[in-house]
Amino acid sequence: MFVSENLSVNEKGHLTAGGVDTVELAKQYGTPLYVMDENLIRKHCASFKNSIDKYYDGKGLVCYASKAFCCKEMCRVMMSEGIGLDVVSIGELYTAKCAGADFEKICFHGNNKTDEELEFAVENNVGRIIVDNIFELERLNSIAEKKNVTANIMFRIKPGVDAHTHNFIRTGQIDSKFGFALETGEAFEAVKEAVSCSHIHLKGLHCHIGSQIFDIAPFEEAARVMLEFIAKIKKELDFEVDELNLGGGFGIMYTEDNDPVPYENYMEKVSEVVKSCCNQLNIKQPFILIEPGRSIAGPAGITLYTVGGVKHIPDIRTYVSIDGGMIDNPRYILYQSEYEALVANRAGEPRDTKVTIAGKCCESGDLIGEGMKLQKVEPGDVIAVCATGAYNYSMASNYNRIPRPPVVFIKDGQSRVVVKRETLEEIVANDI
Ligand SMILES: *Cc1c(COP(=O)(O)O)cnc(C)c1O
Repeated sequence: MFVSENLSVNEKGHLTAGGVDTVELAKQYGTPLYVMDENLIRKHCASFKNSIDKYYDGKGLVCYASKAFCCKEMCRVMMSEGIGLDVVSIGELYTAKCAGADFEKICFHGNNKTDEELEFAVENNVGRIIVDNIFELERLNSIAEKKNVTANIMFRIKPGVDAHTHNFIRTGQIDSKFGFALETGEAFEAVKEAVSCSHIHLKGLHCHIGSQIFDIAPFEEAARVMLEFIAKIKKELDFEVDELNLGGGFGIMYTEDNDPVPYENYMEKVSEVVKSCCNQLNIKQPFILIEPGRSIAGPAGITLYTVGGVKHIPDIRTYVSIDGGMIDNPRYILYQSEYEALVANRAGEPRDTKVTIAGKCCESGDLIGEGMKLQKVEPGDVIAVCATGAYNYSMASNYNRIPRPPVVFIKDGQSRVVVKRETLEEIVANDI
């Protein structure tokens, strides 16, 4: 049993990803190595896209939250799937531009966009700038005025929905740095102001209630709250909001304890709520956007490492040291995230030992996990950590001046590098 459907074991007892022998990949490209299965990425894109076609008459757009995993080739894959991009910085916007992305299909987020970022977005005709606060609305209006264009925006709203997830990634509630609160009237005041701004077109409203969510109910509740707000705007300001962006946050399987909902089911259920609320509230059905990130990239990725030392501390624990760690996967040190790992060159054997997998950085907290089940492990073995496609490469750092690993895509039994391994020259490239 593996956490991702594309993983298997071949006749040599080696772990395969998308049909490719991971031990061979480690040999060919070196470790640490990110491996992503392009077919699985595309499959997840298609299930979100098809769910909008099937349950909401195609009146919507999937925007991949590129912060989960962003590089030019990923943007190209999204484009070829007919999917837009959600970006949160000029760096992600620039990557999208280099990949030739359609800027009409971009949502530009962020709670503190700089003037440089807003100008870049306006110059490149970003389809939707998600405005986070009044200060930003005013700055954007004057930037658009100077350039003599109208900026299309959505407002980030805090719908006050508790998504039952880790506190650090819960963002729908009032005590969040993101967006406008509904309860206090702040959101309504912002809408009033936007409607009167000369160079702003309010296209819609946005909410994102958190991440790694397994229930559908909080999404349904958020949609209900947002539609009630749209009805209030229509009634009191005589202004019809065209679009509703319901964000991302769909949970994935990191360990066997996680039980994700099939991705189609979200739109199936949420569409029902949207349609019935619109009827009840006498408003038109909005164009819907959703922004999956983790659920598109996460399950498609694994990270391969080579084991250095194995340290048995009698009656305490066994440390298995690998050639990567928090530099390529900071999620344990950030959130104590759980992962499953296996010895790729012995993947068919039972995982009957418990170990702590330790990274190579000078931090005691630099771990991939504690109490992890693993096959018998020796120096030189290849370890695969599963479901690392999201928030790993994108969160990687050069702590201890360790070069970042490359990313290899697997497609139809073939592998290719999409991000090269960082070199030592690049580590010192900006040093004077
Ligand atoms: C992070 C984020 C997402 C994606 O969240 P996932 O949990 O990766 O699906 C979508 N929209 C916004 C605004 C976000 O901040």
